[in-house]
Amino acid sequence: MRQVDVIDELLANNRAFAASLPARHLDLRPSRRLAIVTCMDSRLDVFAALGLRDGEAHVLRNAGGVITDDVIRSLAISQRRLGTREVMLLHHTDCGMQALTDDGFRAELQQATGVAPAFAIESFADLDADVHQSILRVRRSPFLLHRASVRGFVYDVDTHRLREIHVDDERRAGRADL
Ligand SMILES: [Zn+2]
Repeated sequence: MRQVDVIDELLANNRAFAASLPARHLDLRPSRRLAIVTCMDSRLDVFAALGLRDGEAHVLRNAGGVITDDVIRSLAISQRRLGTREVMLLHHTDCGMQALTDDGFRAELQQATGVAPAFAIESFADLDADVHQSILRVRRSPFLLHRASVRGFVYDVDTHRLREIHVDDERRAGRADL
């Protein structure tokens, strides 16, 4: 199926969706004061998996759920302008980022285009270690207001269960500025 056919199908879905709901206006600010950073993986339905509804949380997604400068940009706006206070990091099993290496993918892009990308690839082999690193990146960002209220998890795409990754030493130190 060509991509345009898929989008046409989604447009039809949207017409039915909009027709099935009354019009409403929710507050711009997420009611649960929560931002979630997660992977673009198509098997992870964040709202369903966490029992969230529209208007309750910001959801930031990229390949791997990596804490990049652009994610920090969004979190800074989320916390400083739109009132969120907690950050939930959601990585997952069987992630596509575990199937590549930074050097390999960078070389592939350079070979195909003649240009080395300016961005970091941010692949990872160890899921738990990457969640750990992501927690630290949030906690150490000077641009965020609520740096201690971050927790990281691994979502199992087969069982749908969450497992928390603890960063004990940082947590004790971080609680002070809650
Ligand atoms: Zn992923």
